[in-house]
Amino acid sequence: VAVLTDIVKPKVAWKHYIAKDGKKFGYRCLSKRDKSKKWRFVGEPAVCCAKLNNDKDQAAQLEFAVLALRYVNADPDTGGYKADADGNIPPIKWEIGWLKLSRSAFKTIGELALEGEETHMFDFTIAKKESNGIGYDYKRKSKNLPLFYSNPELLREVTEEAKQYADGILLSRNLGKAVSDIDMKAVLAGKAAAGKGDVDNTDDL
Ligand SMILES: [Zn+2]
Repeated sequence: VAVLTDIVKPKVAWKHYIAKDGKKFGYRCLSKRDKSKKWRFVGEPAVCCAKLNNDKDQAAQLEFAVLALRYVNADPDTGGYKADADGNIPPIKWEIGWLKLSRSAFKTIGELALEGEETHMFDFTIAKKESNGIGYDYKRKSKNLPLFYSNPELLREVTEEAKQYADGILLSRNLGKAVSDIDMKAVLAGKAAAGKGDVDNTDDL
């Protein structure tokens, strides 16, 4: 995969995973925080944090949503393409989607960049951690620019399609259900949220 952070900046929000009937549902945290001060609370924490932050599984956590390109027909083991006997690489099939990343995963990917490079300027692979199967390993594919840059026609197609997501709405929508204060109280009381909230408190990064 390669992230398309040159098209749209990552979106970031605090989220609670609230357990109900053995499942977990993502809700946007309602507390106000100051991004420039290590996300310190502004004023009192909201009801969700007051109730859930002592519970490791449901406490508020920072989550990132990033637009990304996936190489659909890449080798699942290597994430790369094998050349045939004539040295030709099969045509690249791709799709645009989004990646949900934890704070540490986002940092790890950023650290794969070489000096002077930005995060969108290389391909990397995502694989389940071999040691315990929990979490993911992110590895850089090569020193080069993403593979789809090597074909100007392809680069144009990708850029053209990615543009429709430049408003960041897709990313925001995937950072947990945004509910009102009243609905959050209902959720915390074990009832499903009645209506759809209109609180959009995601941040550009
Ligand atoms: Zn909260």
